[in-house]
Amino acid sequence: MTDRAYWHHVAATVRFPTLAIIDGRKVPAVSGSTFASINPATGEVLADVAECDTRDIDLAVAAARRAFEAGTWRDQPPAARKTVLLRLAELLRAELPQLAALESLDMGKLVRDAHGNDIANAINILQWHAEEADKIYDEIAPLPAGNVGLVRRVPLGVVGAVVPWNFPFNMAIWKCIPALVAGNSVVLKPAEQSPFTALRLGELALEAGLPAGVLNVVPGYGETAGKALGLHMDVDCLAFTGSTAVGKLFLRYSGESNMKQVWLECGGKSPAIVFPDCNDLAYAADQIASGIFYNQGQVCSASSRLYVHKAIATEFMDLIRARTVRYRPGDPLDPSSGLGAMVDAKHAANVMRYVEAGKYEADLIAGGRTAEVNGAGSFIEPTVFANVPPSATIAREEIFGPVLAASTFEDEAEAIRLANDSIYGLAASIFTDDLSRVHRVSERITAGVVAVNVVDPVNPAVPFGGFKQSGTGRDLSRHAIDKYTSLRTTWIRHRH
Ligand code: NAD
Repeated sequence: MTDRAYWHHVAATVRFPTLAIIDGRKVPAVSGSTFASINPATGEVLADVAECDTRDIDLAVAAARRAFEAGTWRDQPPAARKTVLLRLAELLRAELPQLAALESLDMGKLVRDAHGNDIANAINILQWHAEEADKIYDEIAPLPAGNVGLVRRVPLGVVGAVVPWNFPFNMAIWKCIPALVAGNSVVLKPAEQSPFTALRLGELALEAGLPAGVLNVVPGYGETAGKALGLHMDVDCLAFTGSTAVGKLFLRYSGESNMKQVWLECGGKSPAIVFPDCNDLAYAADQIASGIFYNQGQVCSASSRLYVHKAIATEFMDLIRARTVRYRPGDPLDPSSGLGAMVDAKHAANVMRYVEAGKYEADLIAGGRTAEVNGAGSFIEPTVFANVPPSATIAREEIFGPVLAASTFEDEAEAIRLANDSIYGLAASIFTDDLSRVHRVSERITAGVVAVNVVDPVNPAVPFGGFKQSGTGRDLSRHAIDKYTSLRTTWIRHRH
């Protein structure tokens, strides 16, 4: 039974992990400080979490280095590493409802989505990567006779991972598991808004048999703990997901410290284009509404810009507006709610500043207001603007909220030009039933993922990541492993 009463029971009985995990032990911050984790749907303090800073990061990096040098993880047979990670997947699966409740309480996400989608998918992704562990082959180079060239993928050493609050558990899995599969040690810093599921991941990894120091989880603020990881002289690689502004800081941190490799998954302002030859406009509207309103629009690849062909614009915008009623804000623990809470009051206020600006820039056709649920919380109505000029702030900047900016186009060339008119290049979607157009348009859109007749598809088999200021490198797929390895050439001359 997974109704509202069930989820309130799970939420009332779930344990909040609050201690950092460093060198295989659950520890408070060296300073003894804590920060309050707040439920954005109610304003209540859920728990006080260890507020780690530079000293804790130093301890975690040292533990990760020791584990790496001792070879407790990287030197295990690949099949043994796979077994540990598959056991972790089983332990996580057994706790799926508790993890979903933690995620929902921590950042306002609908528990229905956390349970049915986000956490369940992340565990599948963990399993997918784990199964790769004993299937990574190396190369032998075509050298002259008498020589053998081995080209091997080797782990980098200590990987730092700094992740955001919008998909806290998923982002932790996307970063940590390929790094672990490759044989590295990891120091993970979750976002201060949403530390619980990352901490639980660290606890269960130890239970599954991951040796001490191989996965350290260090909660704390970005400007202290995150920065310390970025500037650390003994971190070999930093994998980041978050805003473009902070992504740029990590490039600087690297340049100011040890030139660690930096991989960035940053912001987006993803276009969705609807062509007049799309045969099922109702379906396209379902997809685009879900693409912008899922997770309250707090999705890096959200379809936040909509371009509709002039000939179908009136009909299509009516379909979009009609769908907003499905996304009525409500108690995130109630499976019948349409939209959860924004991550916190500060972010909700920021999104509302964009909405207010949008009212002067374009035509508001749905939403545009905050909402209260049971007299509390940071809720925002699903909001749609039409006739948005390309120069409008709401068409250019990442709002990271349930706000759709729509406009029209006259021909294919204009649609492509509008879609590419952005500093971002994370994802795009096009709706058309003309196969030639599918190829023509998708080849000319500058985005890491171009989805045709679907919005925001995610699968571990395909890479995810962006062009331009959406970042560098790719998460998911076999290509994710590349980020956490380097190539070592061993040249053997066996005939003198
Ligand atoms: P953010 O950049 O503010 O924070 C992300 C992480 O960086 C957090 O752990 C935070 O503590 C840390 N951080 C913040 N300031 C820091 C600093 N000065 N030095 C070091 N670390 C610092 O982003 P957010 O608000 O948590 O997340 C929203 C952003 O994440 C959006 O821009 C969204 O597009 C992006 N995002 C991108 C992807 C992707 O795959 N491309 C996925 C999810 C989210």
